[in-house]
Amino acid sequence: MQIDFSELGNSSVDVCIVGCGAAGLSMAQRLARRGYRVALCEGGDHEYSERSQEIYQGESLGDPYIPLFSTRLRYFGGSTNHWGGICRPLDTYDFAAKPAAPKATVWPIGREALEPYYAEAAEILGVLPLPPDSDIPGSGLKRIHFSAPPPTRLKSKYSAFVHAAGTLFYCPTANLFGLETSQGRVTRAIFRDYTGNERSVSAHYFVLACGGIENSRLLLWCNRQANGQLIKYPDTLGRYWMDHPHATIGRALFLAPERVGLDLDHTVFLAPTPESIAERGILNCGLRLHRMGDEDTEQLIDDLAFAAPALGRELNDKAFGKRLMCGALLRAAWEQEPHPESRIELDTATDKLGMPRARLIWRKTPLDAKTVRDTTLLLGEYLRDRNMGRLQLAPWLASEDIEHIEFPIDGEIAGRHHMGGTRMSLTPDQGIVDTDCKVFGQANFYIAGSSVFPSVGHANPTLTLTQLALRLSAHLERQLGQRI
Ligand SMILES: Cc1cc2nc3c(=O)[nH]c(=O)nc-3n(C[C@H](O)[C@H](O)[C@H](O)COP(=O)(O)OP(=O)(O)OC[C@H]3O[C@@H](n4cnc5c(N)ncnc54)[C@H](O)[C@@H]3O)c2cc1C
Repeated sequence: MQIDFSELGNSSVDVCIVGCGAAGLSMAQRLARRGYRVALCEGGDHEYSERSQEIYQGESLGDPYIPLFSTRLRYFGGSTNHWGGICRPLDTYDFAAKPAAPKATVWPIGREALEPYYAEAAEILGVLPLPPDSDIPGSGLKRIHFSAPPPTRLKSKYSAFVHAAGTLFYCPTANLFGLETSQGRVTRAIFRDYTGNERSVSAHYFVLACGGIENSRLLLWCNRQANGQLIKYPDTLGRYWMDHPHATIGRALFLAPERVGLDLDHTVFLAPTPESIAERGILNCGLRLHRMGDEDTEQLIDDLAFAAPALGRELNDKAFGKRLMCGALLRAAWEQEPHPESRIELDTATDKLGMPRARLIWRKTPLDAKTVRDTTLLLGEYLRDRNMGRLQLAPWLASEDIEHIEFPIDGEIAGRHHMGGTRMSLTPDQGIVDTDCKVFGQANFYIAGSSVFPSVGHANPTLTLTQLALRLSAHLERQLGQRI
C-alpha cells in the first residue's frame, strides 16, 4: 500500500528497502509475496518530477562522460523508465580472474551462485530465451546473442502490486538522509521529504538499492555523518567505478558474410573466446556488426581500393556479377579494467536537501584500449588471413600508441551502466560488501545493485544485478524465517 511521508515509520517492518529501481522492486515484490513486512522508500515521486530529478545533477571530472543528470531517472521504477531492455548474463569466465588483471577482475562468487535466480529475474525483466553462443572456427571469436524485446517498464508492471500488497508500505518522496548505527547494526534510517520534514524507519534489515552512482554517494555521506561508524573499512568506497565504454570502431567488408551470420541477420554480435582473452591479455568485449546496404558496401570497396589498389581490383573482381559480399559498420561495448582511481566522490556543492552532490571521476586505462583494439584485430586477422574480407579500423583505434589512445568523445561514449563503487570481496580491505552483499562490519545492512560488481564483463548489467538482488532476498528470507 502507498503511505504518506507523515506515516513513514509508524508500522514495524522486517526489511527497509531504499530505492525503487530494478534492484529494490525485485526484492520488495518477492519479500511481500512471501508475507514479509517491507518499507519501500523511494526518494522521487511516483511520476517523473523536476524536484527529484534535479538531485541527480553532479559534476563529472576525469574522462568525458554523459551528464550525471541525464544518465539515470529518479522516480518509481528508476532507470528502467528509460532503459533499452537489452539483456544477457555475464559469461562464466567473467567471474574468474582474467590474466590481464587477475586481482581486480575476480569475483568471490561464481556464476553458479546466480543461476537459481535466472528464471525469476528473466520473468521480472521480460528477458527472452537466448540461443547458445557458438564459436567461429579459427577466429578466436564466438557469436553471441542478446535478448532485446520491447523494454519492460517496471513502473507499469509493479505499480498496481505495490499499491495493493498488504505487507508492503511504499512511500514516495522519502529521501534517505542518514543511517544510525549501534554496536555493529544499523538501527534507524532517516528520511527527508522536499519540505525538510524528517521521519525514521526501524527494521530488522536495511537494504540500499539506489543505483550505481547513488549507492556510493549515499554511503559516503551517511558514513561521514556517522563519523565512520557505518563503513568501518572505507578504503575502496566509491572506487573501482566502471561503465561499458561504447564506440564506433571501424568498418569491415565480408566476402563470406554467412560465416558470421550476417547473411540472415542485420545485426550480429561477436565476442572473444575465453582462450583469446587469456592469450591476448585482454578483458571481455562485445563487437556489434551492423550490415550495410549495397550503396554503402560499394563505397567501402572504393575506399579500400583507394588505400590498396591491388586489393581493390581483387575485391571488384569478386564482387562482379555476385551480390554475396556485404559491408558492416562496427561498434563495440567492452569491459573496463577495475581501477581505484575511477571513482565517485562527494562534491562541495550540496543539493536542496542539504546533501553533497555526486562527483564522478571516470578513468579508462591502457588495458581498456588494448581490449577493444585486440578484439577488433581478431576479426581483422580472421578476414585477412582467409581472404574472406577486410577490416578498416577507425582512425582513433589505429594509433600505435596504446598507452595514450584518444577515445572518441562524440557518439555514445558509454552504456549508462553504472557499476562498482561498493564492490563485493572476500575481505574488507578489498571491498565494501561480502559474498551475501552485506556491508562489512554491519550485521544487518546490505547493498543491492551493480555497485557491488567487482568486475563487469561486457554484457548489460541489469539481468545480473536483478539475479543478485533476488539472491539477497532469498538470504534475508532465510534469516527472517518463514512467514507464510
Ligand atoms: C538510457 C539507458 C538505457 C539503458 N539500457 C539498458 C539496457 O538495455 N540493458 C541493461 O541491462 N541496462 C540498461 N541500462 C541500465 C539500467 O537502467 C540499470 O542497470 C538499472 O536500471 C539499475 O537499477 P537499480 O535498481 O540498481 O538502480 P536505479 O534504476 O537507478 O534505481 C534507483 C532508485 O533509487 C531511488 N533513489 C535514488 N536516491 C534515493 C534516495 N536518496 N532515497 C531514496 N531513493 C532514492 C531512485 O529514484 C530510483 O528509484 C540503461 C540505462 C540508461 C540510463
